[in-house]
Amino acid sequence: MGGKKVGVLALQGDFEAHRAALERAGAEPVLVREREQLTALDGLVLPGGESTTMLKLMRYEGWMEALEEFGRRKPLFGTCAGAILMAREVSSPAQESLGLMDIGVERNAYGRQIDSRVTEIAPDPDFERRTAPGKLEAVFIRAPIIRRVGAGGKVLARYQGDPVLVEQDRHLVATFHPELTGDLRVHELFLEKL
Ligand code: GLN
Repeated sequence: MGGKKVGVLALQGDFEAHRAALERAGAEPVLVREREQLTALDGLVLPGGESTTMLKLMRYEGWMEALEEFGRRKPLFGTCAGAILMAREVSSPAQESLGLMDIGVERNAYGRQIDSRVTEIAPDPDFERRTAPGKLEAVFIRAPIIRRVGAGGKVLARYQGDPVLVEQDRHLVATFHPELTGDLRVHELFLEKL
């Protein structure tokens, strides 16, 4: 990944935590606030936050077309709200999305009582082979559930049977927040794709 430029979309949400995690993983991330910055990037992280709020900002400033176009050529990594933005179908409630990942997500699907938690999950052996062995600490914050994964998708981790880390060609989505733990393997996996 030497010399590759990775950005973090910084319109809303926990972009600062992603910037710090990417830095710890050895990259030199840039915060992206203008569409014009995309042309200089090899990959982009869409952070967690509130996808409806992000969408409002994105619609207003023409980001949807710009990100769709970017994602057709370059890797995107979406966490939580970012994963919702990348999905093909969004429910509960339905909203517009980029459709770059052939997945269907249901928002806030873990319910109100237990909407946030920290847990350990066992990743797929392929994830461990490509990064390093060991369980993943997964932080869920009002997370969506991935209800459908298309034929081109590869599930790299599950929680309670549902996919929580999915790869599709150059793209990656997580419904948890690897940027909030000390485990850099998910970010490292994404950097490998640049
Ligand atoms: N609940 C948020 C949404 O639907 C996502 C939460 C998160 O990104 N941590 O957009």
